[in-house]
Amino acid sequence: MVQRCLVKFCGNSDKTGHSIHKFPQNKALRRQWVRFVQVKRADFGEGSVTQYSVVCGAHFTKDSFRNALQYELGFSRKRELSEGAIPTIQPQVTSEDLEKERATKRKFPPASHTSHSAAATSTASGTGATSSHDTVPKKSRAIHKRELARVR
Ligand SMILES: [Zn+2]
Repeated sequence: MVQRCLVKFCGNSDKTGHSIHKFPQNKALRRQWVRFVQVKRADFGEGSVTQYSVVCGAHFTKDSFRNALQYELGFSRKRELSEGAIPTIQPQVTSEDLEKERATKRKFPPASHTSHSAAATSTASGTGATSSHDTVPKKSRAIHKRELARVR
């Protein structure tokens, strides 16, 4: 199953080579993560978090990772968050994203938003052909984002 970041306008997943991080068990900490997601998704709440809810590494500053150096040097294949790390970096929103957002709003009433994204996720993880098809353009965009994040 593809683990896709649930932050709005992000769309990174483990398939795009991003580190994927589950919501923390600690309630106070988890609330901070929920608040971060809520900035762009008003419909998201603590009740929306499931065992499958993940946020990708692009939303964390470099010092949020306890093994950032090892990872960059290639000694670690997986980035691990330090205890108490909170996502702070919102995705760069392109005009293309906003256009898509407007188009979606026209087509679907706000209430159907959740079921729509759930359907999209299951389609992507369903057939291999579908997911590889839509992963390619997203990947290059994601890398570009990561470059921007590094500059800052
Ligand atoms: Zn993300």
